[in-house]
Amino acid sequence: MSREPKTYAELAARVAMLESERTLTLRLAQTDSLTGLVNRGAFTSALCERLDVARARGGQVSLFVIDLDRFKHLNDTLGHHAGDLVLAGLGARLRDEATPTELAARLGGDEFALISDTPDVAGRAERLSQVICEPYSIYGRQITSGASVGVAVFPTDGVDAAELQRFADMALYRVKNKGGRRWSLFDTALRNEDEQRRCLEDELRRALHEGEIEPWFQPVIDSASGQVVGVEVLARWRHPKRGLLAPIHFVPMAEELGLIRSIDEAVFDAACARAAPWVAAGMIEAVSCNVSPRDLMDPGFSRKLIGRLAQTDLPATALTVEITETFLLQDMALARRHIERLASRGVNVALDDFGTGYSNLRALMHLPIQTVKLDRSLIADVGRDGRVSKLVTSLLHAARALGISIVAEGVEEEAQAIFLRAAGCGAMQGYLFARPMPAHEMEAMLRGAEAPVPLRAAVG
Ligand code: C2E
Ligand code: CA
Ligand code: CA
Repeated sequence: MSREPKTYAELAARVAMLESERTLTLRLAQTDSLTGLVNRGAFTSALCERLDVARARGGQVSLFVIDLDRFKHLNDTLGHHAGDLVLAGLGARLRDEATPTELAARLGGDEFALISDTPDVAGRAERLSQVICEPYSIYGRQITSGASVGVAVFPTDGVDAAELQRFADMALYRVKNKGGRRWSLFDTALRNEDEQRRCLEDELRRALHEGEIEPWFQPVIDSASGQVVGVEVLARWRHPKRGLLAPIHFVPMAEELGLIRSIDEAVFDAACARAAPWVAAGMIEAVSCNVSPRDLMDPGFSRKLIGRLAQTDLPATALTVEITETFLLQDMALARRHIERLASRGVNVALDDFGTGYSNLRALMHLPIQTVKLDRSLIADVGRDGRVSKLVTSLLHAARALGISIVAEGVEEEAQAIFLRAAGCGAMQGYLFARPMPAHEMEAMLRGAEAPVPLRAAVG
């Protein structure tokens, strides 16, 4: 503890010291420690201030957002330290490149930004793109990590900081989707996309509220008996103007907007209500629900699902949750926790779309996954392409050895069904047997208690 200042000089010195400490603390709070650039908080305040000035004086402000391409891959292959060196290198280039009236920032991760008053926006974007795409020298090696740039301009594109950031991000993602290493300006096409998206967002919220998202059902057929043994629940949107919409028209958008969770919950509740009596009456054994990788990122997902399930009449052992490999790859530890928690309650977990991604056999061996769904792309060539047939046959062998059951998806032709049945595939699903249908049709089929017509021939 320092003593009380006695003289005026001591007091002045103490004030000066506190003042410089305060400045330092403030600066540290606004600076990104890896690159020395301003951080997201300071950047957002600066952008708002510059927009205020431009609004008052009639000026132009351009926002360039910059993102390294395949940075995760670089981190994974060369290690985090090398990743940090590239980030620091990019930060240094941006600092050197910024003119005295521009401001460069690191927004977080591998995302950077530059605020500029330049009248030549395209020229600036081109120059930035060149500078940041130059190779980086890491551990004496030349690393080429491309970067992409998205740009939005005040007042032509956006009127405030939030709009500019959203629009610049949209331009950035367009470049990234085309392979990166380029720049793109926000334009009319993106504005239309933005308007459609906002319109769809409002509509989706309304649809959820009005109960327009409904569960449809596709039967799962037992290969040996030809009987319906389960159903997969598939979401449909009964849109008042556009008619019946398949998931491709709303699931990806709902995932982006953070609405997929509400959709999955609504579909789950409605599907359980419709299908629980079918299970209770012994007409089917299992109800399979799809969940988005987004839902699974929530550490509370499995606990909440078990809670929701308890509110329905469906026994846990009759529920299958279909997850995709994308999620396993994103966070294996979290995936394990969810799968183990669900399995401990008797809920079956199925790995969906197997054969499209990495087809991670290790995951199958180490996680309590009871079912694998072979993707339609594999099934399409089965019995036709010798290599695919061999692959599917050996996958079936491996699954049997691990005690995992296999459902073949997208079975459209009798020849495929015959091949799969002979190869020991336990269950099938596809247009050959039945397309997805609304609950009342599914119920009628189950009450008819007959195998769907094509199957009698295929398994007869
Ligand atoms: P998925 O889980 O792989 O579902 C199978 C898709 O293949 C369904 O498309 C189904 O209608 C279609 N299909 C079934 N048999 C055949 C066939 O023989 N030939 C062909 N060509 N297609 C067949 P759908 O209903 O359009 O669903 C597409 C995807 O949307 C689903 O793929 C699933 O990933 C997702 N999805 C569907 N419902 C939900 C949901 O409630 N929540 C979430 N998160 N995703 C859902
Ligand atoms: Ca599925
Ligand atoms: Ca699938």
